[in-house]
Amino acid sequence: MEENDPFTIARVKMVNEQIARRGLRNPRLLTALQRVPRHLFMPLTMREYAYEDRPLPIGNGQTISQPYIVALMTSLLWLEGDENVLEIGTGSGYQAAVLAEMARTVHSVERFEDLADSARARLVRLGYYNTQVHCADGSLGWPEAAPYDGILVTAAAAAAPKPLLEQLAEGGRMVLPVGGIQGQMLQLWTREGGKLEYEEVLPVSFVPLRGKYGWSQEEWENPGSTVEG
Ligand code: SAH
Repeated sequence: MEENDPFTIARVKMVNEQIARRGLRNPRLLTALQRVPRHLFMPLTMREYAYEDRPLPIGNGQTISQPYIVALMTSLLWLEGDENVLEIGTGSGYQAAVLAEMARTVHSVERFEDLADSARARLVRLGYYNTQVHCADGSLGWPEAAPYDGILVTAAAAAAPKPLLEQLAEGGRMVLPVGGIQGQMLQLWTREGGKLEYEEVLPVSFVPLRGKYGWSQEEWENPGSTVEG
C-alpha cells in the first residue's frame, strides 16, 4: 500500500474520525475498513468524494452507504473470521469487500445484472476470492449456501423477509433496515436456542428492497395506500 497516496491518507482519516471516534473500535473492523479501497468502488466522477461522511450515488439510482453505517452494520454481526455470510444488495460490492475481510465466505445477491457483473469483476480484481456475487431476487435469500452465521441487507423491506429468517443459522445474526420511504429502523435479529428475536438499533434511510418479499414500486411510492390482506 502506498503510504503517501492521497486516497490512503483520506482513508486513515475516515477510519479515525468517522468510525473510531464515534465509538466503533474493534481492531478487526478498523483494519478491514483501512484495507478496502472504497474509492475503487465508485464511478470515476465520485472518487474524490469517496471518503466523505455521506452516502454516494453508484448508478441505477442506487447508493453506497455512508462509511459509518457500513461499519456499524458490519460490527453488529460480531464476525470473528470463520463465518459464512450473506449480503443482500451488492451494489458496488464495497460492503461485500468489508465483509470478505472479516469472514470466511461471503455470498452477495444483486438484482441488477450490470451492477452484479461489475461488482463481481471488481472483487476479483481486488483479490476477494472468498466472495461470490449472484444476480437474483435477494428477498428470497440464497438458499444454495444457507445457513448463514451473518446476514446483512442493504435495502429496506416492510418487514424482515421470511426466507432470510429461515436461512439464519443457530447463533446467527441478521442486520437489516425495516420501513418505507417515510422512515426506517435498523433491526438486529438473532436466533438463539431456536428462538428468533430482534431489537431496534437506529433510524436509517435506505433504497427499497424489491422482489417477492420486498416493496413493489407502487407500494413504496404511495405510503398509506397498502392494501390490507
Ligand atoms: N451494499 C451496496 C449498496 C447497496 S444499495 C454497496 O456496498 O455498494 C442497495 C442495493 O440493493 C441496490 O444495488 C439494489 O439494486 C439492490 N436490491 C434491491 N432489491 C433487491 C433484491 N430484491 N435483490 C437483490 N438486490 C436488491
